[in-house]
Amino acid sequence: MAVRPELLENIRAVEPYTPGEQPQEKVIKLNTNENPYPPAPGVQRVLETMDSADFRLYPDPASSVLVHALADNYKVGEDQVFVGVGSDDVLSLCFLTFFNSGKPVLFPDITYSFYKVWAGLYRIPYECPKLDENFRIRKEDYYRENGGIIFPNPNAPTAIYEDLDFVEDILAHNRDSIVIVDEAYVDFAGKSAIELVGKYDNLIVTQTFSKARSMAGMRIGYAISNPDLIRCLNDVKYSFNSYTMSRAALACGAAAVEDKEYFAESVGRIIKTRERAEKTLAELGFELTESRANFLFARHLEYDAGKLFEELKDAGIYVRHWNDERIRDYLRITVGTEEEMDRLFEFLRAKIRSGNVIA
Ligand code: PMP
Repeated sequence: MAVRPELLENIRAVEPYTPGEQPQEKVIKLNTNENPYPPAPGVQRVLETMDSADFRLYPDPASSVLVHALADNYKVGEDQVFVGVGSDDVLSLCFLTFFNSGKPVLFPDITYSFYKVWAGLYRIPYECPKLDENFRIRKEDYYRENGGIIFPNPNAPTAIYEDLDFVEDILAHNRDSIVIVDEAYVDFAGKSAIELVGKYDNLIVTQTFSKARSMAGMRIGYAISNPDLIRCLNDVKYSFNSYTMSRAALACGAAAVEDKEYFAESVGRIIKTRERAEKTLAELGFELTESRANFLFARHLEYDAGKLFEELKDAGIYVRHWNDERIRDYLRITVGTEEEMDRLFEFLRAKIRSGNVIA
């Protein structure tokens, strides 16, 4: 039975985010920037000590074990850490909490497409300054009145990282707005803006366990800022859903943070494969941005990216492609294991050798 139009009138209509495909069959999955290696061994050990009876009780609403582990890791106070169900949860709450002035929030035209969705969901006006012709953020575009600023560093899907002087310039020009730096991929890049949190009271840095820590399926993200802004986030969280983090996520998350050696090794492995992949793809005729993330952003001058995306998919290799005007020539390719990347190169080599130009 169709619902009557008058009933629909007052229902919140939103344009939802389109997540990357999660195929059920076994494929080479280079489409959602997951880490191909397992989480730290301590995570498995924690799971083995858990009993289903543990799940009878609610978890600690303050998420203290995980907050403590993160505060210790980043040498900040426990009152400077907020945790959530993936950084998507944390970022969504940040939009709800901090972007209330009625003035437009600024984020780049090419960036994480969820920002537009949260702005739409919460009825927040926004403007999207264009990246320059090399896909770099033009910091001067952010030196004007605004209702807040958010950008990823490295940016996605361009993979380009800007150094901390750049981030600091944006912070210094926006002392009266909240600036959120989404560092989902920073562990593969360089310095984190967390070191600027003590200097700029308008800064919030978000990070995730989904990429460098190989725990996308556990859903853990966090924000680091000053105690006042973290308190504001907690007030909104406790007005929304106080038990966001499961007992399993809290215990496994804390175990992951404690293993610094495994973390460094896992990040190093991805960076090494990324460097080899950049070289091989360039040899195959691809043009790439300088990636500082766990993915590559590449276009081929002779091959149509949309068709290549489909052909790769038919061959069981999933990458990401968007039909948006400025980036439709590009593929975003997650850095997988050495073997997975070899399978990708094999496919591309065969295609290029056969002269099967599909542009
Ligand atoms: N920010 C950026 C830039 C991302 O690419 C992603 C991953 N899709 C996220 C945030 C969210 O990741 P998660 O919710 O898994 O922490």
